[in-house]
Amino acid sequence: MARQNLTARRIKPERSELLTLEVLRRERISPHFSRVTLGGGDIDRFVPLGFDQWFRLFIPVPGGSLDRIPAKLTALSYMKYLTIDKETRPVLRNYSVRAFRPDGPRGPELDVDFVLHGSAADGTAGPAAAWAETCAEGDAAAILDEGAGYNPPPSLARTILVADESGLAATAGVLASLPPETTGRAIIEIPSSEDEQRLDRPEGVEVEWVVRTADSAPGQAALACAQALPIPDEPFYGWVVGEQSLPTSLRRHWVKAGVPKENIAFCGYWRAGKAH
Ligand SMILES: Cc1cc2nc3c(=O)[nH]c(=O)nc-3n(C[C@H](O)[C@H](O)[C@H](O)COP(=O)(O)OP(=O)(O)OC[C@H]3O[C@@H](n4cnc5c(N)ncnc54)[C@H](O)[C@@H]3O)c2cc1C
Repeated sequence: MARQNLTARRIKPERSELLTLEVLRRERISPHFSRVTLGGGDIDRFVPLGFDQWFRLFIPVPGGSLDRIPAKLTALSYMKYLTIDKETRPVLRNYSVRAFRPDGPRGPELDVDFVLHGSAADGTAGPAAAWAETCAEGDAAAILDEGAGYNPPPSLARTILVADESGLAATAGVLASLPPETTGRAIIEIPSSEDEQRLDRPEGVEVEWVVRTADSAPGQAALACAQALPIPDEPFYGWVVGEQSLPTSLRRHWVKAGVPKENIAFCGYWRAGKAH
């Protein structure tokens, strides 16, 4: 992960063990999103926490397997993972829980919404995005739960959520988990208006979709929109994720405006021009 303070303040999972799962189905839900539903295998051991719960996702490279991935991700086991030959080393990326259903037709189900960037066909997609475009029922994947990062001081009932499309799933999770009396606003930047989703949310939290223009760098439209908001008189919890320059710039803006650092959660979900 790029610059962030989510790991330090996160609500940790009760246990974080490697869960081996399989693809139950894959659906192209909108121009820039593929929803992969995982289940089977160890899914009974997954504990949903709501909010922006995320996990490390391991996917095998073509012809490779998940045999040698660590059961826990410590500095040492990560170093060992890195010693696996690059040709066979499973891909490791971070993803969010879009939805969890304990009672799917074949047992519990976990939806993951992948942003499709580039194209699997011409080799321009990152490995995770390419997998999300091409994986098939029965394919293996493994996850390590990392917990949830949205963890405001108890007295703050007002929230401002800001994300680009990589944070849409996490924003959806936060909105669906907030106490009903919460007020505030969510600003979500998407590449196309057809990528809008129906989101469950408290009545007092407005959702603003910002469709960026083709010549705008990801995150910049959401940043401009959030910076244009007047700073509320009452204290709020600011949560911002997406392409690295969005969270770092907005955090700087909020801090300069006098928002206490402990009331801000920020995380660079990806970095333009840099593979994970
Ligand atoms: C806590 C956390 C939760 C996350 N949750 C989600 C989620 O639910 N859904 C989701 O789609 N992503 C999510 N992300 C972001 C995701 O991990 C990254 O986008 C990841 O880099 C994608 O891996 P990749 O193999 O496709 O591309 P990489 O191999 O990592 O990158 C290849 C190239 O693609 C570019 N790239 C990477 N991601 C994007 C993007 N989103 N848009 C445009 N270009 C990109 C890189 O800059 C690089 O040039 C999350 C990240 C974090 C830290």
